[in-house]
Amino acid sequence: MKIRVDRLTESPASFSFEGDAAWWKSAFASASGLAGELAEPVQLRCRAQGIGEGIRLEGGVDGVVELECGRCLARYRQRFSEEFRFVLEPARDRVPADPEGAAALSRDGLCLGDDLETGWFRGSEIQLGSIFVELVSLALPVKPLCREDCQGLCARCGANLAAASCGCEEMKSDSPFAVLAEIREDLARGGK
Ligand SMILES: [Zn+2]
Ligand SMILES: [Zn+2]
Repeated sequence: MKIRVDRLTESPASFSFEGDAAWWKSAFASASGLAGELAEPVQLRCRAQGIGEGIRLEGGVDGVVELECGRCLARYRQRFSEEFRFVLEPARDRVPADPEGAAALSRDGLCLGDDLETGWFRGSEIQLGSIFVELVSLALPVKPLCREDCQGLCARCGANLAAASCGCEEMKSDSPFAVLAEIREDLARGGK
């Protein structure tokens, strides 16, 4: 999403962009599947306003992505949402101390400070693509879970305990089935 800085005025201008599967793929190509598959297009929005020589930007991302649960390995839909708000001032001839910031300033025309609330811009046009990608990364869970209390898989039989109890605990007792199951397990282990 591109914004012409020289056209901004004090009355806020709204911009929106829909990120489709192709956008998602190109944005997270390096995340090697961690970011999952996009289930619905991501909505990217931004309101921009010129304030004196600076720019105030606020907006957010909303989307639904299909992830794999870290416990039961089931695919599930994760809704995500993240807001941002920051003020940029002209960089003039200043250069960001960190190399990443310097690269962003020359590539996108803007860079953010560590607080993610203030930053610099340069030139007549800024590119918000990288900001949005970063925002989505922040919004996605580090440890995807289909449910807070997902029970995961049974360590013994591999059954999905989120769907139903597999009965392994009960079988540990003195039932003949338990003995059979143990023998079968031993055989399986020995055969590997
Ligand atoms: Zn799960
Ligand atoms: Zn089990």
